[in-house]
Amino acid sequence: MTSDIGARRPLPASGADRHRTRIGLRARLSMAFVFVVLIPVLVGCLLVAVIVPDVLRGQVSGRLRADRTDVSDLLAAQCGHAMLDARALGLRLVGTTPQQAVRASLAESRADYAAVVDASGAAVAEAGRRPAGVTDLSVLDGCGSGRGAEVAIAGRVELAVGNHPDWRYAVVAWLISPQTAADLQAHLADQPAVTLAVGSEIVSSTLPLPVARAQLAAIRPGADVTQVGSRIVAVHDAAAGEPYRILVSRPVPELGGLPWIFLGIIGFATAGAIAIGRFLARLISQPVAELSEAASRVAGGDLDITLPVRSRDEVGRLAAAFNHMTAELRRYIGQLERSHAELRENLERLGAALAQTHNLPGILAVIVDTAMASVRASAGLVALFESDGVLHVKVSRGLPELAPDAVVPLGAGIIGRVAERGTPVHGVVGDGPGLRPIPEEPRRRTVLAVPLRQAGRISGVLAVYDQEETGDGGAAFTENDVRTLGTFAGQASVAIENVLLHQEAERLSLTDALTGLWNYRYLTMTLGHEIERATRFRRPLALLMIDLDRFKDINDRHGHQAGDAVLVELARRLHTTVREVDTVARYGGEEFVVILPETDADGAAHTAERLRQAVRGTPFHVEQMDIPVTASIGIAVFPRHGSSAAILLRAADEALYVAKHSGRDAWRFARAGGETPAGLSTPRIVVVPEAGEPASVPEAGEPGQPEAPA
Ligand code: GH3
Ligand code: MG
Ligand code: MG
Repeated sequence: MTSDIGARRPLPASGADRHRTRIGLRARLSMAFVFVVLIPVLVGCLLVAVIVPDVLRGQVSGRLRADRTDVSDLLAAQCGHAMLDARALGLRLVGTTPQQAVRASLAESRADYAAVVDASGAAVAEAGRRPAGVTDLSVLDGCGSGRGAEVAIAGRVELAVGNHPDWRYAVVAWLISPQTAADLQAHLADQPAVTLAVGSEIVSSTLPLPVARAQLAAIRPGADVTQVGSRIVAVHDAAAGEPYRILVSRPVPELGGLPWIFLGIIGFATAGAIAIGRFLARLISQPVAELSEAASRVAGGDLDITLPVRSRDEVGRLAAAFNHMTAELRRYIGQLERSHAELRENLERLGAALAQTHNLPGILAVIVDTAMASVRASAGLVALFESDGVLHVKVSRGLPELAPDAVVPLGAGIIGRVAERGTPVHGVVGDGPGLRPIPEEPRRRTVLAVPLRQAGRISGVLAVYDQEETGDGGAAFTENDVRTLGTFAGQASVAIENVLLHQEAERLSLTDALTGLWNYRYLTMTLGHEIERATRFRRPLALLMIDLDRFKDINDRHGHQAGDAVLVELARRLHTTVREVDTVARYGGEEFVVILPETDADGAAHTAERLRQAVRGTPFHVEQMDIPVTASIGIAVFPRHGSSAAILLRAADEALYVAKHSGRDAWRFARAGGETPAGLSTPRIVVVPEAGEPASVPEAGEPGQPEAPA
């Protein structure tokens, strides 16, 4: 049995889903963490790598600007010195020769050249090395010298008229030499390279000449700071009176190990991010993994699984909810299994009931058991109406207080009212008009009773008591239970009706329709069983055959219907005269047979006589007439007169024949016949006819006359 109803089909996986399923949650979380950490690190490193060289270059440029000013200032200071020295030389000329004065000046100022110059620009006296290419010494003034001449820094003072009239100027000069740049460099912090140039000619430089030339060539006019090759160059253009340009340069700042540091940082950050990412991913994904594992196990049918609830956060609540879910599932499955077991039990019971379809007590017991199981009651009963019009409790379960033959009148108590009204009742006993029991009924706390019906009539009541505790504090029958038991009562009624119908059919097949006595079929069956029993236990058994005397006359005189009524009355008298254990059957026509178990010849004779008296004692009152009736009786005793049903019946018939011939209204024994089983003593026949009844006294020599006592 396959059904699509309620089946859940999985959603078709999207492209993203298919992609996701390949990489686990933990890996995804790790990767996300690594990205989150690495991207800022990379961006930071990139920014630093871009900005740092710029900043460093800016720093260097700033320093170079300061350097350039410093060099310019140093040269300006040198100019000032030269002027002072020239003035000192002028002063020396007083009271000394020019020759002595220039030598002394040179010695004191450590200048390269000192001279006293006349108006034509020629030297009156000079000392030191004259700058090359200078013919007119009067040009040696300020911080530079004319073009085409060796560059010098010179101071010149005009001499007072008080001196010699031909002495016009005192001059002191420093030559700009290759050493000058190195001297200037020595005054600067961190020693940048210094180059002095005049025009396009390098005058002095701390750099190798090609480098200095290249710098000079690369400098654009008005440029501030320029990178040339591997160095940054700042230039100070020549001002008025300054023939030289000043170039200071420093190497382009190197990042040194910075890239490696960055690489190290990135590597370290990556490794750290991976490690921390894995740890965090584990921390986050662990509960999900546990939940997923648990869910797979539940899907596989293992419900004995409990997740640890480690926190009160969402994960903890999820785990708690999961545990609650599995517990509920376990409970439901337990209930289902119990229901299943109960169903199986009930099926077995019903199966057993089917096997004993014709056994009314068995069926009723199954009905009570099943009814109790169907509504979880702890006690129950079935009561059926009998011909006396009251309810007889036929079967009860769990009701030891109930009398075995308890009866409840129609309309009385709980059961009687249900039978009267034909409607179910349920509730707490004593709680309401329909719930007051009579003393014959069970004393229980709660009750549920439903009527049983046959052919539209109420035939009885099915009642259950005291629902078993289910743990939810219930134990009072519900409307649902009423419906359940009502449905079941319908089925139970059909089952009971079937059994009763069967029993009735069986009864009809074995009884005589007119008299209600057992018929010939039942007679032969029972006689066979009784002979078997008597044989096995060596017990006596007697058989009486009764025939009405001159019955034809009664028919002829009063009619056939009156004859029938006589037969019915005769049957009643026979039935009430013999014992419960005796079997009275209509043999045919107006002939009847009585089987007397545990009865010897003596007892049989007494019974025959009692029957004879029962017939003749009172006239039969039929159709407003009193008809005197007599009967003749033949007696056969087992085993003397026969050891089989057929022989015994024939023997009794023969004895009856003898009784008829003896004048009727009498009884006679059969003739002795059949072999007596060993060990069974021959019964002693004592015939004691009542006084005044000579006809009942067996006549000696007549056929069927009883044997003389042994
Ligand atoms: P006897 O004393 O010799 O027995 O005389 P009898 O008239 O009783 O003779 P017999 O037993 O031979 O007659 C049986 C009569 O019983 C014949 C028949 O009309 C009558 N009978 C048989 N069965 C029934 C029955 O069911 N109803 C009625 N009304 N009569 C029956
Ligand atoms: Mg007859
Ligand atoms: Mg007769």
